[in-house]
Amino acid sequence: MMTDKTAIFWFRRDLRLEDNHGLFEALKSGSPVIPVFVFDTQILDHLEDKKDARVEFIHLALQDIDTKLKNHGAGLHVAIGDPTEVIPRLANQFNAHTVYANRDYEPYARKRDESVYRSLLARGINFKGYKDQVLFEKSEVMKADGLPYTVFTPYSKKWKSLLAVQGIPEYPSETLLSNMKSSDIDSFPGLSDIGFAASGIEFPSEHVADGILQHYAETRDIPGIRGTSRLSVHLRFGTIPVRKLTARALNLNEKYLNELIWREFYQMILWHFPQTVDNAFNSKYDRIEWENDENLFALWKEGKTGYPIVDAGMRELNQTGYMHNRVRMVVASFLSKHLLIDWRWGERYFASKLLDFDLASNIGGWQWAAGCGCDAAPYFRVFNPYLQQQKFDPDYAYIRKWIPGFDPDHYLKPIVEHTFARDRAIRTYKVALEVREV
Ligand code: FAD
Repeated sequence: MMTDKTAIFWFRRDLRLEDNHGLFEALKSGSPVIPVFVFDTQILDHLEDKKDARVEFIHLALQDIDTKLKNHGAGLHVAIGDPTEVIPRLANQFNAHTVYANRDYEPYARKRDESVYRSLLARGINFKGYKDQVLFEKSEVMKADGLPYTVFTPYSKKWKSLLAVQGIPEYPSETLLSNMKSSDIDSFPGLSDIGFAASGIEFPSEHVADGILQHYAETRDIPGIRGTSRLSVHLRFGTIPVRKLTARALNLNEKYLNELIWREFYQMILWHFPQTVDNAFNSKYDRIEWENDENLFALWKEGKTGYPIVDAGMRELNQTGYMHNRVRMVVASFLSKHLLIDWRWGERYFASKLLDFDLASNIGGWQWAAGCGCDAAPYFRVFNPYLQQQKFDPDYAYIRKWIPGFDPDHYLKPIVEHTFARDRAIRTYKVALEVREV
């Protein structure tokens, strides 16, 4: 056990040394700060694919942090286990007076942190949390009546007006790294030590040119070109600070800023309505009688529905862990409405594949597309995959990229006919919504 009192900074979804709020507060505390990361076996044990690219991404980000820390005579302490046991144990071992972390708003994380807090409290150790992954959290952006917003546009207006008043704070943690201390225990497992291997997936850069953000409004809906930032995985794991990106968006493009606000809107919804992880935001939609045909679900997953834009999207997802937002909307609508398969099945499949998987945005996106979420697309508006293709991929650039040799005249037969499927969806939804409660 160390004799001098220390502080621990616990990295979670904030894997960077720059402009990191909780890290900044720890480094200002006056005590040497020991940086810690825990590979959570509660999560890892449930990942079926041992080449999961998210684990590799995290591992690379940790290596980067460790290398940078070595320049300051410190190093990252990486543990494997259940954080509710590991963190209190390390806090004792390192003689910490406080564990610092940035807040995480997902239901699992909230439960985990509550448990860590209690264990630390019992040992007389503080646990301090900070806001880092969003500009506004929890109940900071509320309606005049004190209730949470459930519609995006008024939420975004309030969000912007609050930001105009408060400005964007900076937490220059990178300037205080000399206060870091190594745990003096050699602890940096390789990927194979945690039971995983490299995925072979190429990760998007954390840099995006100003030009992409400036032209975002014109290019964001065209999947065949590089018209979006591809920063979602970096926002997910905190390898870039959202505050700096928001400052750029404020200067460069309001449409882009709005997308960052959608991300916060869904985080806020998940915070106030955690039941939406398993249930439709609008509970009437839980009465829908899904067809749930396993064979059709398998064809959707493989990208073999006979609808080229849907198939291209699913193949992009399967090969890269990414799918363009426009296409995410099309494939999600297709699964829930054309195939009448429970949106939760699709949500779980995305969760297993998406590099940028984020519970709040994924639930939000799926419920929006299935028509059962807050501020969702109305149920009777069913995306027509052919029209979506004509509008957003008219020369088949995107489709050809993911379906090599694609020929519009000789493609797979559709697994369901469009007009039939559309009418069936509207009928089925209508029946569910019209059921009277007794
Ligand atoms: P850009 O268009 O460059 O947008 C910039 C950032 O804004 C994104 O990185 C993201 O953080 C945020 N953002 C953009 N659009 C949205 C949106 N509609 N909702 C919330 N945040 C948004 N996004 C995720 O990060 N994780 C998910 O698990 C996820 N699941 C989705 C599921 C469905 C069915 C749908 C329709 C959308 C989902 N999205 C999800 C939102 C969106 O598709 C991705 O954020 C976006 O495609 C990522 O690419 P980008 O970084 O180039 O985005």
